[in-house]
Amino acid sequence: VTRVERQARNQALFRQVNEHIAEVSAGSESPDAGLQQFVCECSQLGCADMIDVPLEMYGRVRDDPTLFLILRGHEDLGHEQVVKDLGEVLVVRTAPGVATEVAIETA
Ligand SMILES: [Zn+2]
Repeated sequence: VTRVERQARNQALFRQVNEHIAEVSAGSESPDAGLQQFVCECSQLGCADMIDVPLEMYGRVRDDPTLFLILRGHEDLGHEQVVKDLGEVLVVRTAPGVATEVAIETA
């Protein structure tokens, strides 16, 4: 397993965690239209930082399997590019290749 693939699988794992958070949040009795706390979906192994993202924004990002939400400064421009700047949080798209293949395969 290459380093890029390991990192991509790490991102996919945190995406699963966030999907669970979003499900729980959406199913709660008083859905909060405000910010929801998610885990950073960067490729750094061991990153456990939290990010605050509007649930609606999260849903839009999740519609595209190659997009991930990460904390500013956690981007790895070697295999992803920033497509949206939300301030503290960035939306990144995986670069074509292994990272994108893993992102789609695990979605
Ligand atoms: Zn991170």
